[in-house]
Amino acid sequence: MSKEAEEGRRNPHQDEATKTHRNFDASSELDGFLLRFESFNRIKRGIEETFAGSAPVIISAAMGKPCGQHECRKIMRNAESKDAALKQLSELKKKGNWGEISFHEIDYKETSGIIRVEKALETRDRRSDSPVCHFLKGFLAGFLSHLFEKPVAVKETKCSGKGDEYCEFMFNKL
Ligand SMILES: [Zn+2]
Repeated sequence: MSKEAEEGRRNPHQDEATKTHRNFDASSELDGFLLRFESFNRIKRGIEETFAGSAPVIISAAMGKPCGQHECRKIMRNAESKDAALKQLSELKKKGNWGEISFHEIDYKETSGIIRVEKALETRDRRSDSPVCHFLKGFLAGFLSHLFEKPVAVKETKCSGKGDEYCEFMFNKL
């Protein structure tokens, strides 16, 4: 069989998959997959259509919490202080396209503060009359609870998903 004929018999999809896999191996150590904002919101909508009342909010936050705890555990392996850990979180999440997180009025003694998030992941494909960032709220609660080594409550007081300029969360110890 000629080389050209052999080329023609190749499965183009398989080639594409191999190429993509090779690209990932070469460019990063990313061990996961990409999820579009609209797909993430479709998952949340599935939860909302299945469970009544406040259950979908609780479920989304419960999904985020262990992710936040785990993220904090990873960051604290190298971070020299709580302040450094918060800075690292902002950098990592900006790179990961979760949004631009900034921390304000953080009181390390009282365990309280304000978190602002611009372009938060759950607001990119979602409009509502009430705050929509339940997963992120749970994530931040998990992260901060691990960081402060005590249960921390997080409340979303502004949300760009309902037309505010940015999302804003307040946190306090429970
Ligand atoms: Zn929000």
